[in-house]
Amino acid sequence: MTPHYPNEDTIAAVATPIGQAGIGIVRISGPCALEIAQKVFQPKRPVKSFQSHRLVLGHLVDPRSGSRVDEILLSFMKAPHTYTREDVVEINSHSGYLLLSRILQIVLAEGARLAKPGEFTFRAFMNGRIDLTQAEAIVDIINSQSERGLQLASQQISGNFRCEIEALRERGLEILARVEVAIDFPVEEPGILPREGTVERIEQALLEPIERIIAAHSQRKIWMDGVDTVIAGRVNVGKSSLLNRLLDEDRAIVTPVPGTTRDVIESTVHIEGLPLRLMDTAGLRKVKGKLERIGIDLAEQKLAHADLALIVIDQSRALNQNDFKLISKSRGRNALVIVNKIDLPSRIDEKGLKTALDGLPLVRISALTGEGIDRLRKAIGHVVLEGHVDMTVTQVVPNLRHKEALSEAARFFRSAAQNTKEGLPTEIIAMDLNSGLEALGEIIGATTSEDVFDKIFSQFCLGK
Ligand code: GDP
Repeated sequence: MTPHYPNEDTIAAVATPIGQAGIGIVRISGPCALEIAQKVFQPKRPVKSFQSHRLVLGHLVDPRSGSRVDEILLSFMKAPHTYTREDVVEINSHSGYLLLSRILQIVLAEGARLAKPGEFTFRAFMNGRIDLTQAEAIVDIINSQSERGLQLASQQISGNFRCEIEALRERGLEILARVEVAIDFPVEEPGILPREGTVERIEQALLEPIERIIAAHSQRKIWMDGVDTVIAGRVNVGKSSLLNRLLDEDRAIVTPVPGTTRDVIESTVHIEGLPLRLMDTAGLRKVKGKLERIGIDLAEQKLAHADLALIVIDQSRALNQNDFKLISKSRGRNALVIVNKIDLPSRIDEKGLKTALDGLPLVRISALTGEGIDRLRKAIGHVVLEGHVDMTVTQVVPNLRHKEALSEAARFFRSAAQNTKEGLPTEIIAMDLNSGLEALGEIIGATTSEDVFDKIFSQFCLGK
């Protein structure tokens, strides 16, 4: 059971990133939202009553001193047609750290409480406007790294995942109902639970669709979080040139990653719509010319954790053992060998290379002239998506929490099917089915524990 939401208080927070910007928003939600707004707002023209979902121009005043703080636009949104299903007020002011803090302080002084991260969304969930999968999709939409990820998250916000889970639960309940009838009338109606039909039904109506959704989980990392990619190769093969070419084409934003090893630069480039997170360590570049070995060792370590390896070799020089070492380390992984500098005469032994590749895909490019870069993009898309579920079939991408609950449900349903086959008492089968249904309920928040709520909503930023 969903616990009843105990708070009748009104919450407030700054809903925009705090900093210098055109506008900033302070959001208030709860039963006193309107009352607080009336105390801190002086409309430019007198208003008899606030109309819902309308913007009103005026001033934010500090009721204690009577002083005007800023010219603002205020909107009042009447429950239940709001984000939280409670009365909501939004104050659109100028933006600036001091100004927004001051406005928030005034609102808090008039009776609101500072919202916890994710508390607005938590209220939306508790008040039944959204289910847990929709709440999680809100975090995804904020964090999404690709267009496709954004699209998947917005479908989840509109409730497609919830519908799938609810449909599964309904089918599970139907099966359970039939099994329970058999429990109630064990003697009178011996044929009421045709065991074979039940096994088939559990497999087709529950297990198969669940397995299909679980299989789509691997897509999530790709579209939502990005594909961790390593560009590895000997010194001077053209790794930086390739990276720069990909970055320039994508006009990617290069961001230093705070808190990691000095000088680690992470950039995301979009290739065939896929967000590739390229880790480029300045440390690796420093060993150039001197200690190639260290560079190769570091590359090897990074390869072990990468989702995709791009191994670059230089066709203007004969291959040496370091090239072969990197290639052999990449076998059996998501990897692509890139022969660079095809604008220069080749000095590589094609036969030796072919043997070393042993089936690894290969693309020939010139990072200098740009030749072959389109081919490279297509090949990357192919390597990353190979073996993954066709996303035109499933539109639902479960996160780890969903995946675990689905696996748990599948385990119980499988056991129900097995026990039915083996002719075990119907009570035992019913118990398994019930447990499976409960696991499904956890996904949408129907049977979820409070710790899980805490974990989910603590990922939100303040004001969301
Ligand atoms: P890294 O050490 O692997 O990062 O290699 P760099 O990207 O720094 O490139 C080493 C040298 O090779 C530079 O002088 C580049 O201009 C040159 N280079 C890179 N790619 C190509 C290419 O496709 N063709 C030619 N001719 N030169 C290239």
